[in-house]
Amino acid sequence: MLVTTKEMLLRAQEGHYAIGAFNVENLEFVMAVIAAAESKHSPVILQTTPGTIKYASLDYFASMCRAAAENARVPVAIHLDHGDSCERCVQAMYAGYTSVMIDGSQEAFVDNIALTAQVTHVANAIDIPVEAELGKVGGKEDDGPDVKGDSSYTNPDEAEEFVARTGCTSLAVGVGTVHGVYVGTPHIEQDVLKAIRSRVEIPLVLHGTSGVPDDQVAEAITNGVCKVNYATELRQAFMRGFMGYMEDNPYVFDPKKPAALGMEAIQAIVESHMDNLGSTHKA
Ligand SMILES: [Zn+2]
Repeated sequence: MLVTTKEMLLRAQEGHYAIGAFNVENLEFVMAVIAAAESKHSPVILQTTPGTIKYASLDYFASMCRAAAENARVPVAIHLDHGDSCERCVQAMYAGYTSVMIDGSQEAFVDNIALTAQVTHVANAIDIPVEAELGKVGGKEDDGPDVKGDSSYTNPDEAEEFVARTGCTSLAVGVGTVHGVYVGTPHIEQDVLKAIRSRVEIPLVLHGTSGVPDDQVAEAITNGVCKVNYATELRQAFMRGFMGYMEDNPYVFDPKKPAALGMEAIQAIVESHMDNLGSTHKA
């Protein structure tokens, strides 16, 4: 069933678990993530970045995800990941997304507040939850520049003021994770997370989680994280399954055959994350 992220995240917060938000690139990603959610009886968030939306269109992804959600036996939300303007967020809501993120984290503090408040003003009117970002998640997000090693942490004082002034319903925080593929060992600054949690009541969101060890993610959940994003790992899994099949069967020309192995690989990874996030059997 199609839902917004609002109640889904509040229930996760009360129950001390997190919802996985998985970036979907195409039909096969959508089907594999839904298959995992159904087999684990877990609520799930399907999300797409502006980069993926530019590849096809908002309408394409919204229609595909809506069909998947309406037919699913578990709660499914459709979320705009890293919304890059107020216009894009409004377009996503109009197209049928049930949750949006506005990412003003590259802006100065006051400009981030102004941009985020603009989106929450519109979204509140139709009861769509808004995720915002304060502080920086390093690495390469979507089509953006590579924010090398610069993962400046979210300031807890600023976080409190930011949430009060914007009315955002969840907050992505900079606590040491980076987007893309990790070069060294990932490390979540749990103390920063705890400090933010003590000042902010809304659900916190972890970005750049692909490659972060499960025990660190589990600890972050005990420290207030209720939504955990995974993108890179799904891309890697799909390509590994797909290309592996083609290496073994170079003359096959039915794309459904290698795609089936790509989907299997995605499903396995998503299921294992759902167990670790604690969302299994929460649907
Ligand atoms: Zn992100």
